[in-house]
Amino acid sequence: MNRKGIIIVVSGFSGVGKGTIMRALTSKYDQYALSVSATTRDPRPGEENGREYFFVSNEEFEKLIAENGLIEYAGYVDHYYGTPRKFVENKLNSGIDVILEIELQGALQIKEQYKDAMLLFVMPPSADELEKRLRGRGTETEEVIRKRLLRANEESVGIENYDYIVVNDDLDSCVERVHGIINAAHMAANRNQEFIDTIRQELKEFLV
Ligand code: ADP
Ligand code: 5GP
Repeated sequence: MNRKGIIIVVSGFSGVGKGTIMRALTSKYDQYALSVSATTRDPRPGEENGREYFFVSNEEFEKLIAENGLIEYAGYVDHYYGTPRKFVENKLNSGIDVILEIELQGALQIKEQYKDAMLLFVMPPSADELEKRLRGRGTETEEVIRKRLLRANEESVGIENYDYIVVNDDLDSCVERVHGIINAAHMAANRNQEFIDTIRQELKEFLV
């Protein structure tokens, strides 16, 4: 059975723990490649250009759009964010699962272009816990925190577009659930048409 790379979209409200989950998942399992997005927002303390994001100017971002260098992009709380095309296409072609940690508008663009993409939405255990985590991270001003909580309200309307929801309660079990969902997706009949056809062809030998 030939294992094909799956494009996995992970979304969730700001502060729910997407980055934390992705770091844990990719350091525990090497079957995943995490796409590094381009953004016009400033780096947070500790973030490195090329690791968390490619930090670019507005002009550079607009050039990427014009060159068709992004497979999707969106505006989020005063900034642009987008997924570079080359990395995703190279990894998928080599059979590696690519994870895009992106917001709702981008997720919908991916769903439109990649029919077999898997969309996963990370939920907080409660809205209070979400606010606590967002504030606890201590990386945004009060004004940006408010804007991000407003955006969470807007994004909550789109959750039904996703294939799965996972609650980020206990980090380790959340990571295991995400890994389990992705592995199950690899076994879906409609992702294994080639293998089904091969076995069908082999069975024909018994008919003669
Ligand atoms: P996001 O990438 O979704 O914006 P982060 O990964 O930056 O969120 O996490 C936001 C904050 O919540 C961080 O301070 C992180 O340490 C904390 N956090 C993440 N997952 C959990 C969890 N399962 N339980 C408690 N705190 C968590
Ligand atoms: P943050 O500023 O907290 O790193 O990210 C803000 C939001 O932008 C998050 O919801 C994150 O998932 C989303 N995001 C990050 N990269 C991309 C991207 O390449 N495309 C889109 N559409 N959203 C992204």
